[in-house]
Amino acid sequence: MRPSELLCPMSEGLYCPPGDFHIDPVRPVPRALVTHGHADHARPGSEKVLATADTLAIMALRYGEDFCAERQVAKLGETIDINGVRVSFHPAGHVLGSAQIAVEKDGLTMVVSGDYKRRPDPTCRPFEPVACNVFITEATFGLPVFRHPDSGEEIRRLIASTRQFPERTHLVGAYALGKAQRVIAGLRAEGYHEPIYIHGALKKLCDFYQGRGIELGNLQPATVEGGKRGDFAGAVVIGPPSAFADRWARRFPDPLAAFASGWMQVRQRARQRGVELPLVISDHSDWDELTETISDLKPDEVWVTHGREEALVRWCQLEGIAARPLHLVGYEDESD
Ligand SMILES: [Zn+2]
Repeated sequence: MRPSELLCPMSEGLYCPPGDFHIDPVRPVPRALVTHGHADHARPGSEKVLATADTLAIMALRYGEDFCAERQVAKLGETIDINGVRVSFHPAGHVLGSAQIAVEKDGLTMVVSGDYKRRPDPTCRPFEPVACNVFITEATFGLPVFRHPDSGEEIRRLIASTRQFPERTHLVGAYALGKAQRVIAGLRAEGYHEPIYIHGALKKLCDFYQGRGIELGNLQPATVEGGKRGDFAGAVVIGPPSAFADRWARRFPDPLAAFASGWMQVRQRARQRGVELPLVISDHSDWDELTETISDLKPDEVWVTHGREEALVRWCQLEGIAARPLHLVGYEDESD
């Protein structure tokens, strides 16, 4: 069996003809296998969804209990047979519940990484390399210029800023699934024990993470009501990036805009967003993580799904590994 007979790129996403299922389809399909809960990978409306229990729970939180007609839980490391194709899920280190999906038939193993990172994250299980013939990788930060600094160092810069500007509210933009909880857990790990104020859009997911045993400490609603403005002087307030354009953000005293994203390495992006304190914290692999993962796995072939595909494809070819870009559309880096 050739790789393109086991998985092929279609407009809906990657499709497995013998198994008759899609992986992370961007449109509703009869059977979807979902790597993780970010909105660009996990969409509502498919008939059957197979994913980890945490990803299924996250989809239900975001889309409602009726996000699909039939759910099936994939236990990490367990093999499931779908129409003669062996499928298994393995930790991807991206966000809570995130998994790589391995697909095997007639001795050919292909691994769809989904989004992944290799550096430590206290809010999810670490990436586990899975031996395969074909590794299908993202390339959100697939350029040699992208080298993410140590996330602990970025968190310490945030804490230092709250001490340097004790009268200013530190408004931190962070995506609702994964990044917000990672920033909060990172603050706690660095010994920051003040209450952290969260925008209402983060509450359900923060509660879910805490229910899954991830310690986020004292979280309070970030609502400014009569006479309480002073409470927010020097405080850390976390909200989704979309909330920062709202009136909500302007109610805080002398706000200092921070943003936790891998893109904050690009100074122009930080300036365009009016970010005073860019925090380079990413849930994706940087260039070194992408290339080291491929070097570890030594696959026969690499397919690059989305992001900056060309540089990674070229790197693989120089290493003597066959590689091709898939140019999949609809994956928008929600979690950068
Ligand atoms: Zn993601």
